[in-house]
Amino acid sequence: MAFNIYYYESNVDCKFCKKHFSTYKVRPNRYKIVEEQTDFMPVYEGLNPLLYEVAVCPHCGYAYHKSMTRTYGPFMELINEIYIKELQKKINICQERTLDDAIVSYKLAYLVSRASMEESLLMANFALKIAWLYRLKNDNKSETHYLFAARDFYSKSFATNQEGEERIQFLHAELSLRLGDIAEAKKGFSRLISDRNISNKYRKLARNCWENYRYDENVIKVDGGIGEVLN
Ligand SMILES: [Zn+2]
Repeated sequence: MAFNIYYYESNVDCKFCKKHFSTYKVRPNRYKIVEEQTDFMPVYEGLNPLLYEVAVCPHCGYAYHKSMTRTYGPFMELINEIYIKELQKKINICQERTLDDAIVSYKLAYLVSRASMEESLLMANFALKIAWLYRLKNDNKSETHYLFAARDFYSKSFATNQEGEERIQFLHAELSLRLGDIAEAKKGFSRLISDRNISNKYRKLARNCWENYRYDENVIKVDGGIGEVLN
C-alpha cells in the first residue's frame, strides 16, 4: 500500500484459521491523551487508537484482543462450535474504522471470549470499552446497557494483585454512580475511603468522585430552591 501518514499496517497470523492478514493501527504520533474520565476512559486529541485494538480476521471472522488468554487448544474447539459456526457473514474491518466498525470489532471479541469462557475481568473490560464507544457516539441507551454489563462482570471479578483489586472495587462504585445506583456507589466509595489498606491513589479517586457527586447534588438542590422561590 502507499505510505499512510495516519496508520501503519500490523501483520497478523490468525490464531484460528492460521491465515495471514494485515490490519490498521494508529501511528503513535497521531494521538495524544488530553483527559481521563472518572471511569478511566481516555479522551484523545487526534485519532482514537481504541478503535483499532481488536483485530478481526477477514478470512474466518475470529476476533482477537491482546488481553485474551484462551486462544489455544480446547478453547479453539469451543470458539469453533459456539462462535465461528454461528457467524452469519464475514466482514472486513481491517482498514480505517468508524465508531460503528469499532463497536462491531469489540462485540465480536466479546462473543469469542464468551465462547472460550474467559475470566469475568476481561469481559468486564470489554463491556466497559463498548460503553465508551457508545458514549463517543452519544448513544446513552446502549452506553447504559454496557455499563450495566460491565458492572455485573466487575462484581464477579478477581485480580491477582492489590492494584487490580482496588481498580475493580473503584470501577464498581464509579459505574454504580453513573447508573444512578447511589446506595451501591456510596457503599463502595465509603469502603475505599475508610479502609486503611487501600492505596492513596484509589482512596483519593474515590473521595474525589464522591465529593463531586455530593457537590453537584447540593448545587441542584440550591438551584431548585431558588427556582421555587422565584416561581
Ligand atoms: Zn482467521
